[in-house]
Amino acid sequence: MKKLRFKRHNPRTHWVGDGFPVRSVFSYSDIASEISPFLMMDYASPTHFPPTTQRKGVGEHPHRGFETVTIVYEGEVEHRDSAGGGGTIGPDEVQWMTAASGLVHEEFHGREYARLGGPFEMIQLWVNLPARLKMIPPAYQGITRDTIPSVQLPENRGQIRVIAGELEGAKGPAFTRTPINLWDMRFTQGSGFTCKVPEGHTASIFVLSGAIRLPDGNRIIEAELAVLDSSGTDLSFETEGPAKILFLGGEPLNEPIIGYGPFVMNTPEEIQQAFIDYRSGKMGRFES
Ligand code: MN
Repeated sequence: MKKLRFKRHNPRTHWVGDGFPVRSVFSYSDIASEISPFLMMDYASPTHFPPTTQRKGVGEHPHRGFETVTIVYEGEVEHRDSAGGGGTIGPDEVQWMTAASGLVHEEFHGREYARLGGPFEMIQLWVNLPARLKMIPPAYQGITRDTIPSVQLPENRGQIRVIAGELEGAKGPAFTRTPINLWDMRFTQGSGFTCKVPEGHTASIFVLSGAIRLPDGNRIIEAELAVLDSSGTDLSFETEGPAKILFLGGEPLNEPIIGYGPFVMNTPEEIQQAFIDYRSGKMGRFES
């Protein structure tokens, strides 16, 4: 049975641009190998935005060396990048942007959502790329809700939406560069959950709402991340009632991580080169 390694909880919120009030749950500067290939997680816990005609979000900025994965629970996110990727995603949808060799992008609230206002809840993950794939061309996957399969739990106890990887034969639509399991788990009531995950993969559980108990007795509460042992294949926990959970698992990359702001590479020289390439326009620019 997988045991708890440690927990992470950050009560402090900071703003990303003027659209995303997020808590930084973890980042590559504090934990990395224990949660590889995941590099960062920002959680925008439920917030109500009033109607506006302003564009709220974060304007043009670069990335290189990894992927950004945005999961919308409530509200709407609109994305545009210099490699031609873009789209608007709403509740239960995901955008999987491969920055790789580099691009600039902007992230705003969707126009329709901004006009009407309403609740907003979102997670953004950064997923590392192995050294051999850091300089591949950028790519974009807009993953709509109808393409995400779900595994129903018995007795209407909830469902598990497989965004990436596989659970009980349900395969997630996200194309991942290394093996990853990313599951959006919704429990309607207190329920046990057990499944097999690959030996040696990192495994973490983030609780968006509700609370869970691990077999070793540890309790994980709202907005808390539990990083589990990589060894062992039996994932097991119990929800105390209705709960919304994100499971993150993956094959660790075991490569050096050197990051600075929006760039995550393997050496300091590659970071310097990223700044040179960004400033000279090699990652692209928007016209306006
Ligand atoms: Mn970004």
